[in-house]
Amino acid sequence: MFKVVNTLKHDLVIVGAGLAGQAAALEARERGADVAVVSKVHPVRSHSGAAQGGINAAIKPDDNWKDHMFDTVKGSAYLADQDAVRILCSEAPNAIWWLDGFGAPFTRQEDGTLAQRPFGGQRRNRTCHVADHTGHNLLHTLYEQMIRLGIRVYEEWFVTRLLVSERKFVGLLAIDLLKGEMSLIQARACILATGGAARIFGQSSNALINTGDGVSLAYRAGLPIEDMEFFQIHPTGLLNGILMTEGCRGEGAYLINAEGERFMKNYAPQFMELAPRDQVSRAIQTEINEGRGFEGSYVHLDLRHLGEEKIMSRLPQIREIALYFAGVDPVTTPVPIRPTAHYTMGGVDVDTDCKTEVEGLYAAGECACVSVHGANRLGGNSLLETIVFGRRAGINAAGSLKDAAQGDVPQDLVSSDEHRLAEMLGRESGESIAELRKEMEDVVRENFGLFKNEEGMTKGRERLRKLRERAGNVLIPDKGRIFNQSLVNALQLEAMLDVARVLAEGAIRRQESRGGHYRTDYPKMDNENFHHHTIIRLGADGEPEFSTKAVVVEDIPIEAEVKY
Ligand SMILES: Cc1cc2nc3c(=O)[nH]c(=O)nc-3n(C[C@H](O)[C@H](O)[C@H](O)COP(=O)(O)OP(=O)(O)OC[C@H]3O[C@@H](n4cnc5c(N)ncnc54)[C@H](O)[C@@H]3O)c2cc1C
Repeated sequence: MFKVVNTLKHDLVIVGAGLAGQAAALEARERGADVAVVSKVHPVRSHSGAAQGGINAAIKPDDNWKDHMFDTVKGSAYLADQDAVRILCSEAPNAIWWLDGFGAPFTRQEDGTLAQRPFGGQRRNRTCHVADHTGHNLLHTLYEQMIRLGIRVYEEWFVTRLLVSERKFVGLLAIDLLKGEMSLIQARACILATGGAARIFGQSSNALINTGDGVSLAYRAGLPIEDMEFFQIHPTGLLNGILMTEGCRGEGAYLINAEGERFMKNYAPQFMELAPRDQVSRAIQTEINEGRGFEGSYVHLDLRHLGEEKIMSRLPQIREIALYFAGVDPVTTPVPIRPTAHYTMGGVDVDTDCKTEVEGLYAAGECACVSVHGANRLGGNSLLETIVFGRRAGINAAGSLKDAAQGDVPQDLVSSDEHRLAEMLGRESGESIAELRKEMEDVVRENFGLFKNEEGMTKGRERLRKLRERAGNVLIPDKGRIFNQSLVNALQLEAMLDVARVLAEGAIRRQESRGGHYRTDYPKMDNENFHHHTIIRLGADGEPEFSTKAVVVEDIPIEAEVKY
């Protein structure tokens, strides 16, 4: 049933219509490229639209991009590449003016200048925002420009395979979910902008679509995946995982345990609630584990002292989310919260031009690892990354076109994907997708969550191996063509199992604690043995191959520990 029915041709194909994909598309189109964007959901349903707190840039006279760079490198537990962070921070003001120029409705102060709130791990107020729904507004702002430029979007199309021949990108395969038809899109360049993978934890702030498809597509095409052991667990999620932005604490909210104590004073006395996320999350979980949580499972995020007016003007969406999803009004009642999986620091290995090692293939945004976040991302730096590196990817990919010829598409790659999908869909009995997914989430959370150790991870790796075997025999109960969500779920499960595998391989080998990767059996940072990036790629034997890559250090010295 799954045969390629259309062959489409473009100069550049971008997978993903979040902020990174759209920023790339706009820049490439402005440079004359024939661009197509493919997205498994309507562009404005991309997870970028859920970003609440804001986007960082040193734009105030008393601030300076070098300070922003320093805070970012320190926050990354010294694992970020300093050449990439230099680009991120020095380009940040330009990124804000680019968005402002398109009419992004940033929150302003009385004098008309942009308002900036404090965010964790930063010594200045440098987080620009649109109240507490920044991502939604930025995504709509760029989408307006996409429409203005008439950029072709294949929306609700699911990419199933990257076609790489002789280390060169030649095209991709995608299913039009509405029709259930498969198309080949040929292009001379491709940008992956498929977002994060934090759904592998189950309990997550991420949209259900954040299943790491891009990392899996790249891994299967033989590309190196960098630093996947570093996931960010955000300190403040509702009990169902939905995010309460760091902007709450930025505006002054407290974290309180069941003994009524602002416990962050025992962990990060200088920064208190605004210490970097990895530290605050571990502090909350430690309070819960040591019996100082409410009902053994959460602490309070207390906004009451901010007053109704501030909550209504600065955090209106947060109030709504707390009301709808937790049944409490933060104006009068503290909000129950606990850590929730949030951000994928690792991703497809790219250089500062967003190039992968395959000719014509680029990656940007959360699915890429350029590495500006190292072992821990600072809040507000990810939206920034999507704009700075999304634009860069678009400019570089468009620039590469003049020397790039369309490569031939190897028919065996196309046929093997056609067979794979036909076989999956044709199966009459097999494993339940939902059950496998649930078990995978449990393994990832239990064995690769906030606190890891050798024994747990080794068991977890074995459990993942068995799940992969079973996933080779899933049953897709819906045999129809139109919006076959079971097929999408099966493909997303495969992707998540790939991501979990790469995470496990990296995490077991990293015998130290750094940023989002914390091991109870190796609680210290170990620069002597582990100040390097982890690289995992699929070997010819089908097994993951491990290697390391040096961290780029410029003028910010590496410290023995990260002290706040
Ligand atoms: C709740 C929440 C709040 C956040 N708040 C902030 C914040 O305040 N500040 C900040 O800096 N960061 C924040 N972040 C992080 C930030 O929003 C994301 O890292 C960033 O928006 C990711 O953008 P992206 O363009 O890389 O990917 P996304 O916006 O996730 O877009 C991914 C795109 O890829 C497409 N796609 C994926 N797989 C496929 C496939 N197989 N086929 C076709 N298309 C595919 C999707 O359809 C989608 O269009 C937040 C994240 C969350 C979850």
